[in-house]
Amino acid sequence: MRHPQSNHTTAMLVPKLNTCGHPEREHIAKGMCRACYDNAYRAANPERKRAQGRSWREANLEHARAQARAYRAANPEHANEQQRAWRAANLEHVRAQGRSWREANLEHARAQARARYAKKKAATCSNTTSK
Ligand SMILES: [Zn+2]
Repeated sequence: MRHPQSNHTTAMLVPKLNTCGHPEREHIAKGMCRACYDNAYRAANPERKRAQGRSWREANLEHARAQARAYRAANPEHANEQQRAWRAANLEHVRAQGRSWREANLEHARAQARARYAKKKAATCSNTTSK
């Protein structure tokens, strides 16, 4: 007599055990509980996780911007530090932005440069006289 489903049913009833160190938790996949599986997944797919974050941001842009604003307001020191680090890491981009701004605001840029030059000159002079 055949029991076509018996093997399948038996397999379904055998509980899988976590080998991640949390035997009391529910088994999710590959011998791991939910938390450990998520951690392993993130570690194994960092690019995919980042892409998920990006697509969430694109779908919730206003919310993401509001969050960033609130974070900056609450942590101005850290935000400034991040800004500096970002500028250092994207120097070419920052310079290209500066160039295109100068091209669009040539007179203003020249006035700024003159002011910088005058200030520098004054600082240099006072340095040499105070020596
Ligand atoms: Zn675990």
